[in-house]
Amino acid sequence: MVPVTALPIHDGAVWISGHQIRAVGSWSEIQEIQSGTSGPVTGPVTDLGAVALFPGLVNAHCHLDYTAMVGLLTPQGEFPDWIKGILTLKSQWTDAEFEASWLLGARQQLETGTTTVANIETRAHQLAGLRAATPLRIFSFLEMTGIRSGREPERILAEAIEVLKSLPPNRGGVGLSPHAPYSTSPELLRVVADAARRDGWRITCHVAESEPEFDMFMYRRGSLFSWLENQRPSEDCGLGSPIQHLHRHGLLDSPLLAVHVNCLWGDDALRLAARGASVVHCPRSHAYFSHPRFQREVLTEAGVPICLGTDSLASTRASREGPPVLSLIDELRAMASDDPSLSPRQMLAEVTINPARALGLKSVLGELSTGALADLLVIPYAGSPATVEEALIHHRGPVAATMIGGRWEWIAPGCSVPVSNSGLTSSPLVRHSP
Ligand SMILES: [Zn+2]
Repeated sequence: MVPVTALPIHDGAVWISGHQIRAVGSWSEIQEIQSGTSGPVTGPVTDLGAVALFPGLVNAHCHLDYTAMVGLLTPQGEFPDWIKGILTLKSQWTDAEFEASWLLGARQQLETGTTTVANIETRAHQLAGLRAATPLRIFSFLEMTGIRSGREPERILAEAIEVLKSLPPNRGGVGLSPHAPYSTSPELLRVVADAARRDGWRITCHVAESEPEFDMFMYRRGSLFSWLENQRPSEDCGLGSPIQHLHRHGLLDSPLLAVHVNCLWGDDALRLAARGASVVHCPRSHAYFSHPRFQREVLTEAGVPICLGTDSLASTRASREGPPVLSLIDELRAMASDDPSLSPRQMLAEVTINPARALGLKSVLGELSTGALADLLVIPYAGSPATVEEALIHHRGPVAATMIGGRWEWIAPGCSVPVSNSGLTSSPLVRHSP
């Protein structure tokens, strides 16, 4: 068992009560705790056999609705060419296609052990139904742009807040996503920043993703600047880096989930750290676009926590095994091959405790500990605790089982792990024995 906030435990056990974890430890420790506090073991005991148990993974950046766009766009040309391609594709899709695509992404996430997704939402009118159709903890960040529509920033924000407030409560949460510096006006960034400061809205934003974006804000030049010159006012270009742009308009005043951040300038990293921002790196999307090298060392040295995201399958290449699926485990493996110096433990933090903290849910998600939510993933494993984190990174395909809030929500067909939801009503105890 890999609690993440503690060293791996051989013959580990998780005591689950309702939606939450009541205790974790070795099987013998759990038995002792139980006999000391509430008499002998009550409720069913599930012995999972030779497996490894991890907390459910937390995806810090995703576009579930683009899942079925896999293979439809090519990374040829400059970054703006890809944006034009996806805008055309989106304009041709029906509500039914977006819905099927979103749900396909949610299913792939569940099957590959992700239990929480920070998702960028573009289908406001379909959102309540989509969120209700998956057991995942969905943190819906509603996307806002406004460049092409030219609508009033206050109106855009008010409508987004109205949509989010109208959603029935579910296992996840909600937030706001001004799309990116180039696709929003400074006024929109300012009203969103004010709302975040005033009412505590959580915010995420794509920023400093590509060289054309960097050149646009830093130097008033490049392919993105030329494309957008006639579509948005350009007085905000040529004044500094994209991170400085967000800072200038207040978006760093609240803890921002800053997505991509491939182009840094001057004290950008220190600025992010000082303002409590987290950065989301999306390894396969990064490789697809051949973006400038991700500056992990600079960010880490400055004290910026790094999280991993899948981005979308519209910007993920097929691998040798075939078409890609939306999987954080596949992102971990891609990152491990990009940078073999990273330790498995460090990488695991980027899909568990770091994104949990970035979503304001430290000690609640991304770890197996007393009081945390009972979100787990199970993979077959018969090795030693010393190499168990590596086993997750090298795991291919669906996981054996995924639990969310104390219920098994995914069990692989033909899975040899004896999991079921029958009898999971009182105090189920999940045990791993060697
Ligand atoms: Zn994205």
